Amino acid sequence: MNANKEKPMLNVDEAKAHILNTLSKLKSDKIEVIDVADAQGRVLAKDVLAGRDQPPADSSAMDGYAVKFADQENVPATLELIGEAQAGTVFEDTLGKGQAVRIFTGGIVPDGADTIVMQENTTHQDGEDSVIINETSHLGRHIRYQGHDFKAGLTLLSKGKRLNSRDIALAAAGNVANVSVYKKPVVALLSTGDELVSAGEATKISQIVNSNAPMLANLIDMAGGIAVILDVVGDQDNALKTAIENIPDVDILVTIGGASVGDYDLVQGVLKELGFNLGFWKVAMRPGKPIIFGTLPQPDKADITVLGLPGNPVSSIVGAYLFLLPMLDHLLNADSPLLIQSKAKLTEALVENGPRQAYLRAGISHDENGQLITNQKEDQDSAALLSLSHSQGFIIRPPHAPKAAKGDLVPIMLLGNLGIY
Ligand code: AMP
Ligand code: MG
Repeated sequence: MNANKEKPMLNVDEAKAHILNTLSKLKSDKIEVIDVADAQGRVLAKDVLAGRDQPPADSSAMDGYAVKFADQENVPATLELIGEAQAGTVFEDTLGKGQAVRIFTGGIVPDGADTIVMQENTTHQDGEDSVIINETSHLGRHIRYQGHDFKAGLTLLSKGKRLNSRDIALAAAGNVANVSVYKKPVVALLSTGDELVSAGEATKISQIVNSNAPMLANLIDMAGGIAVILDVVGDQDNALKTAIENIPDVDILVTIGGASVGDYDLVQGVLKELGFNLGFWKVAMRPGKPIIFGTLPQPDKADITVLGLPGNPVSSIVGAYLFLLPMLDHLLNADSPLLIQSKAKLTEALVENGPRQAYLRAGISHDENGQLITNQKEDQDSAALLSLSHSQGFIIRPPHAPKAAKGDLVPIMLLGNLGIY
């Protein structure tokens, strides 16, 4: 009999559901208005409506001549050249019977014209005031009609959309200079460990470079948050307590390291001394089992949501992919998740899985038929960064998954496609 029997470990989906239930959505006052050009990766807090028709007037899709359709039904046809319609100008006169206007791509179709004949189908000598049409164009040929792309007032982009460069072009073309977006959630990163030093500062064999803080800061930044990297704290209760008591005003505190059961794994104990409401500790996953989640009450302020990640770099980033990114998506009210799951064909067999859901670093590419293919990296040590860097994603092995043969389709988590380009 074990008197201290723990609650059964949550599985990955249960842990994620627990986290999202705990988080309250950012309130509408956490909105800011920014320049559309700076909005890449930001999530819209209001719909973006077109401020004008696009194109704003009937315009030419080609360099050529604006004509009346009827005047070039029988070719060759010689037409009188009465002027030019260049992009950025308006040709003020009306085209009469038997007349043509030289027009350039983007130029507004003059009144009286209904068809564009492309330059390649005409003959014209410089200085001459006539043009010969050699090939008939159908009525309306090469005209982009006013509002063809979109009409003023149309919803171009909906609330909840995470903006990419194409969306920015769309909003800008709609004459929208500013957009309302959710403010970036602020995430404090607190690394723990006597052994940790910053990159470039490692001189002793007892030291380990803090690679997790810059990794997670970068991920948070890409996901539309703001990372605040706090000073590393050593493995002393008091130092950790002081650091956590002095956390700046943030939405999420991510602790790194010290989440397990070793003598120097102090995070949970210190959090509890500070009144922590533990949501869960440990998730049935591999790597990254000892994950801590809960809320830390703050005097006179909203609770801080705490995610405690293990220190091994791969455990840390898998925990961040699975839980921190959805937290950011949730706080940002984003309408779709950043990480995508898919399926890929194994190029090598896999052994059966144990009781915890496994995330295997994997190479992911396409075969000659365009089919996604994958194979696990040889080095699956949770501290191995080289195989992490060489992976394009993870093969997901559900608990107790039977062995899988070469050619089997397996679920994968695809990286390098955060959908924000
Ligand atoms: P811990 O979770 O504190 O038991 O740490 C597990 C392993 O991860 C140890 O080998 C640590 O040295 C290493 N580690 C902890 N924190 C970091 C960090 N921020 N960056 C890189 N490695 C770390
Ligand atoms: Mg440690």
